[in-house]
Amino acid sequence: MNIMVTNDDGIHAPGIRALAEAMKELGHVTVVAPDRERSAAGHSLTLHSPLRIFELHKDWYAVDGTPTDCVNMGIHNMLPVTPDLIVSGINHGANLGDDVTYSGTVAAAMEANLMGIPAIAFSLATFDKECNFDAAARIALRVARQVATHKLPSDTFLNVNIPNCPLEQMRPTLVTRQGKRSFIGKIVDKTDPRGRKYFWIGSEEPGPNDEEGTDFHAINRGHVSVTPLHLDLTNHKSLKILSGWEF
Ligand code: MN
Repeated sequence: MNIMVTNDDGIHAPGIRALAEAMKELGHVTVVAPDRERSAAGHSLTLHSPLRIFELHKDWYAVDGTPTDCVNMGIHNMLPVTPDLIVSGINHGANLGDDVTYSGTVAAAMEANLMGIPAIAFSLATFDKECNFDAAARIALRVARQVATHKLPSDTFLNVNIPNCPLEQMRPTLVTRQGKRSFIGKIVDKTDPRGRKYFWIGSEEPGPNDEEGTDFHAINRGHVSVTPLHLDLTNHKSLKILSGWEF
């Protein structure tokens, strides 16, 4: 197998090293990742400035762009053959519920899915400094093996969240649906040393979100969460309602 690895925490992040290392057990690994952290870049594509590639060492390339740029560069410019799988992560921090729309980690898998390439996004559900990326990488390998064996259903990519614990404490993997985040936005409002106001977007812990069957519910209980996603954002339930309107 040929596997391309990317992320949004940047090519120097520990999560991508662990993921690339584990994927070597499946085949040939090429890393194409942002040269710096691009978390919350979403599905952003760079159109108004050039992109540059930096070869760090064999099969490891940094691009001065977003995760979506990296997938485009990898597929259309850098890799000699289309990879059999694109994996993104392992992100430092969960990507659960509505947060997937901000995530550069998930967007890289989304971009691969648009290109018809099987793709998986992996996130470690913690913001702690102590991270079990090696344990998470073993789980990632297991998930990737399942994808290789069964082949993903059409128009489907996977969003995988992994609890931050040693492998033996990991609870079984659950297939989940995307939950709803009770978002509590917080704008930090301060004054800089020259007396000018500045603002910084932050957030508080997500509000209670524990509906059974969701990604939140699984992670809250120490399970690995695997959510199949697709890009059709149509609200199918609303189609019928709106078709009765007189536009
Ligand atoms: Mn990130």
